[in-house]
Amino acid sequence: MTLNELTQIFDTVNFGLVVLDRDIKIQYWNRWMAMHSGIPSDQIVGEALFDFFPHLSTPSFNKNCKAVLSFGNFAFFSQKLHSFLFPFKPDSSFGYRFELMQQSCTMGPLRSDDNLISGLFLIVQDVTELATYEQKLIEMNTKDALTGIYNRRFLESRLSDECERHRRHSRHLSLIMIDIDFFKKVNDTYGHQCGDMVLQAVASKIVSVIRKTDFIARYGGEEFCCLLPETSAENAEVVAENLRMSIEEMTNSFESHSIKVTISLGISCFVTEDSPETLLKKADEALYQAKHSGRNRFVRLSPV
Ligand code: GH3
Ligand code: MG
Ligand code: MG
Repeated sequence: MTLNELTQIFDTVNFGLVVLDRDIKIQYWNRWMAMHSGIPSDQIVGEALFDFFPHLSTPSFNKNCKAVLSFGNFAFFSQKLHSFLFPFKPDSSFGYRFELMQQSCTMGPLRSDDNLISGLFLIVQDVTELATYEQKLIEMNTKDALTGIYNRRFLESRLSDECERHRRHSRHLSLIMIDIDFFKKVNDTYGHQCGDMVLQAVASKIVSVIRKTDFIARYGGEEFCCLLPETSAENAEVVAENLRMSIEEMTNSFESHSIKVTISLGISCFVTEDSPETLLKKADEALYQAKHSGRNRFVRLSPV
């Protein structure tokens, strides 16, 4: 096969192909690379790769080039670790979750007829579509569809991790179980759609009140569970009261109605012998007491 024939193939394939010489100057730049970078082959061939893509000149990229040129190694740049090598706009609608095309790249040696390594090649694959599907799947498995916050399954796995961490380091960990008061009445009076809207509003409000390091999940129908790492009982009470007040002050508009709801909260604090289940159970008991002592309040059971 002639070089001309090979070039016809390389210019048709659906991935990027770059050939570099031992000085990391570009020898070949296929049509895919030209299309996505906007730099035609005749403008870049003969030029130093790092002049056009200075961000690539990192110690790790240079080390990989050296290993390929010296030992004939192969190097892989996975999307999970590196996201991309070349900052290209993603193709089509699949890119909407990523600002830049996600790439999986392979680098390998090119040997001349005398078996000496004369340069290296880089294959650039667009994996944006795959990465998008993966992200969507993770989201579907961990997030609640209605409110967008984490679901119960994810909370439970996170809770075990947190309990383990806090047991090892003897740190504070608090949990708040939250339940909307008389929520059935909202559904019965204004309809299920209105109930859904109130659930979304309560979830967003909780997210806006807690810290970035805190963790909130929808635990059941109108129940939420809030995990507060590095938070003492006293501080958990402050958070609970802030949450209670913010929800009480909130007015939800639905059609021509103004709907107000309140929440009851149960706080539990981790002690070394607690399992994730006992921590949840203690919070549930506290919540039960909050409900039965009048609602719109928090209760923390004293440690036994
Ligand atoms: P309490 O103060 O004792 O908690 O009273 P409550 O009415 O809030 O409690 P109850 O458990 O009797 O009712 C909870 C209601 O939450 C019943 C159920 O229809 C409603 N619910 C659960 N999930 C959803 C949801 O996704 N959307 C809507 N709109 N309602 C939901
Ligand atoms: Mg409930
Ligand atoms: Mg309720």
